[in-house]
Amino acid sequence: MTPGTPTLRIPARLTAPDPGWVMSADVIVVGSGIAGLTAALRLRQRVDRVLLVTKTVLSEGSTEWAQGGIAAALDPEDSADEHLGDTLVAGAGVCDEEAVRILVSEGPARVRELVGLGALFDRGPDGEISLTREGGHGRDRIAHAGGDATGKEISRALIAALRAALIAVKEDPGIEVIEHALVVDLLQDRDSRVCGVTLHVIGEGQNDGVGAALARAVVLATGGIGQVYSSTTNPSVATGDGVAAALRAGAVVADLEFVQFHPTVLWLGEGASGQQPLLSEAMRGEGAFLVDRDGVRFMAGVHELADLAPRDIVAKAIVARMARTGADHVYLDARHLGREFLEKRFPSILARCRELGFDPVSELLPVAPAQHYASGGVHTDLVGRSTLAGLYACGEVSNTGVHGANRLASNSLLEGLVFAHRIADDITSRLSAGELTSADPVVVGADSTLVAGDERTAVQRAMTLGAGAVRSAESLAQAAKSLQAIADSAPGVTADPDSWETSNLLHVGQLLTAVATLRKETRGGHVRSDFTVRDDAHWLGHIQAVREADGSITTSFHPVTPHGPVRVHSPVTAHRPVTAHRPVTRSDAS
Ligand SMILES: Cc1cc2nc3c(=O)[nH]c(=O)nc-3n(C[C@H](O)[C@H](O)[C@H](O)COP(=O)(O)OP(=O)(O)OC[C@H]3O[C@@H](n4cnc5c(N)ncnc54)[C@H](O)[C@@H]3O)c2cc1C
Repeated sequence: MTPGTPTLRIPARLTAPDPGWVMSADVIVVGSGIAGLTAALRLRQRVDRVLLVTKTVLSEGSTEWAQGGIAAALDPEDSADEHLGDTLVAGAGVCDEEAVRILVSEGPARVRELVGLGALFDRGPDGEISLTREGGHGRDRIAHAGGDATGKEISRALIAALRAALIAVKEDPGIEVIEHALVVDLLQDRDSRVCGVTLHVIGEGQNDGVGAALARAVVLATGGIGQVYSSTTNPSVATGDGVAAALRAGAVVADLEFVQFHPTVLWLGEGASGQQPLLSEAMRGEGAFLVDRDGVRFMAGVHELADLAPRDIVAKAIVARMARTGADHVYLDARHLGREFLEKRFPSILARCRELGFDPVSELLPVAPAQHYASGGVHTDLVGRSTLAGLYACGEVSNTGVHGANRLASNSLLEGLVFAHRIADDITSRLSAGELTSADPVVVGADSTLVAGDERTAVQRAMTLGAGAVRSAESLAQAAKSLQAIADSAPGVTADPDSWETSNLLHVGQLLTAVATLRKETRGGHVRSDFTVRDDAHWLGHIQAVREADGSITTSFHPVTPHGPVRVHSPVTAHRPVTAHRPVTRSDAS
């Protein structure tokens, strides 16, 4: 480390008022997307007291925005092995093959259970679920609902099942749901075991303001980090709260540099920010194609799957084409698919485009890549356990290893479903074995911080310019510097939901920038303009990061070969990349 270079420090918790009330449950599930709802519903069948808390309303989250569908080898001609092969290719060498095997082999049964629960998937004339193809898939294996409203239908079915359970247990409050409940931090006992959460509830009566909820296990299902960037397909709740809280508590966070930028997000002009409309990959699956501003199709020479190449390849090709033509977008051409087909197959996309003044039936649609999915997150094993006792992570917040460096289209809803089941089953058996006992939370030191809500745009701008779709050592150093300046401007900030979320964006952004600086190659969702090729000799593996007791971050490199040596890096500095190739032992880390 250069003398005078500040070390990246992440505080132990966010500044918040002391809890004014306490409640308890056996298991707390945080978040109500496909991951949280599935986990809560399955836990409810086996555990006495489940508490589901969610930041706004039950339906809010990325799940309800999912358009394309859910991938599963449901066609008799298809197989789990083929799905596995496609997933491994998209993951660019760093998927956890065992996790992928679980995903693809348990997936079909989980999707059928979803149908049993009431989810209405689109069906063909033979009554079978219709399957379509998306980028990176070698077969038609994407089940969809309402044409392009798959997430909405899945969310509707899961919430309906939850409401039915709530009515059924009116006399026996075995499952409790609290909406408008923002989890601020994790509570831990003196051995760092997670035993609850602090949360801010906008409610009435007793449970209003900041309180504490205690439990024997906590399942984080808080979704993605999209709002870390200026432009994203993710809804406003996707502020990385789960990753940030787990990091502060000392859980291992992995693969955070692998951020998927969706290639075809409707381009609404310079300066458009926040959640942007997505034009599903399924449009290209049905025959739409990309052209540049001169009308030239440019994907054919780039990849054998042309317009259906994996997302990172398409996004990279678009960025290169934009640079070559001097344009800030390219176009998606779906006109030849015809009015009748487009209106039936993509009703929501058509309605949204038309609302915004574009008609896919008669016009080219301007598109550019925008943040879409976080492949990294809270590192878990194959039953969703994080590295902290008592803490599980599920869905987009987690890093199970199934996505590697780049998620294959429509595998994320499936991941939420499959691993939520595994988590619920693991918690159930551990509770019955008496392994997860209740514990008393302790407050460790006064290491807390906050940044003001009005710094949000500055964080997003720093991340977009410095750690966006294409990065370099220079851009990342600038991002790290800008983020540190925001962190240093913190004192005197009022604790409220806006400052908690903005602080989470900052912490996720700082860590993402640090690990993206370390990885000196281009792989999957991590694209470097100064290291443009994949470098398997040095980087075939995962960067894990953990917060040490003094707030510094230690990173380590874990090769994909099962028993390869682990390299532990020095604490990450804020302004200067740590040399990542020099293997250092843990005792070397200062
Ligand atoms: C536009 C769009 C289209 C997509 N299309 C597809 C697709 O076709 N197929 C596919 O497989 N995937 C798709 N994805 C990705 C997929 O939708 C998500 O990865 C998946 O839905 C994530 O589910 P989840 O349950 O992990 O999180 P979410 O559905 O995002 O739910 C997270 C929940 O956590 C809550 N929460 C967050 N922070 C807190 C907090 N601090 N306290 C309490 N609650 C909190 C949120 O309010 C929300 O309820 C798409 C995503 C987007 C944005």
